[in-house]
Amino acid sequence: MRPHQGAADFAANPVPPGAVPDLVICERAAHTYGTGITAVVAVHDVTCRVLPSTRVAITGPSGSGKSTLLHLMAGLETTTAGALWWPGLGGYPLAHPGRIGIVFQGPSLLPALDALENVAFPLQMAATGDHDAKELAWDAMRRLGITDLAGKLPQELSGGQAQRVAVARVIAADPALILADEPTGQLDHHAGGLVIDVLLQAADELSAGLVISTHDPLIAHRLPQQWTMNDGRLLDPTLTPTGMTTARSAGRS
Ligand code: ADP
Ligand code: MG
Repeated sequence: MRPHQGAADFAANPVPPGAVPDLVICERAAHTYGTGITAVVAVHDVTCRVLPSTRVAITGPSGSGKSTLLHLMAGLETTTAGALWWPGLGGYPLAHPGRIGIVFQGPSLLPALDALENVAFPLQMAATGDHDAKELAWDAMRRLGITDLAGKLPQELSGGQAQRVAVARVIAADPALILADEPTGQLDHHAGGLVIDVLLQAADELSAGLVISTHDPLIAHRLPQQWTMNDGRLLDPTLTPTGMTTARSAGRS
């Protein structure tokens, strides 16, 4: 990518045939909550890209902007300055992206449904037939080696087991990008490590990009790449998969 290539420029120069498009491109992206004296700049001047081969942990202290950046990448929040777009997910220049799966930190399973039904539920909502949804759900659980949990209710699962079911629910929908916001935040190291293993396995199986936020350096170092956030800034964004030199880092060097 050329420095300063923006969304409009990108639309005029789409990805050449045969090239793998980036899943996400952030160019000097920012997000401010609120206005005036109550405004909080949560993400500031972030330039980075996510490819199908990306396996990155975003680390940084609480309040450094990790969740906000993930929400921007998910299309759940919009940039208030700069640009962010999704060439590989049908989301450019302004359209909403598709095929993004999100794993959240806390309990997210529906308590009245067993694990298999939880995994199948979003597919049923997306009008996949009941039978097909259950088959896809079973297949996702099989791929993650957790079919023994299929008939259990969420209250019968440990925190780590519930998170692995949440990962199965995400991969059943065949995402091209998996975003996980502190997926191990409520787990001990052993359980957290298993969840990271399952996320890495899922990304490899689907050839999906994977971005995980965590404030735990031990968890972060289980991933091949680490980015660090501090005060809303992504430090050293040259650590992108292709070693892209950004306008900002080029200016600093
Ligand atoms: P992290 O995930 O690293 O803890 P966040 O992205 O949640 O960081 O938060 C970054 C900053 O934005 C913090 O100062 C936080 O208080 C603020 N913030 C987050 N969400 C909101 C919100 N909905 N409204 C106002 N401020 C927010
Ligand atoms: Mg957070």
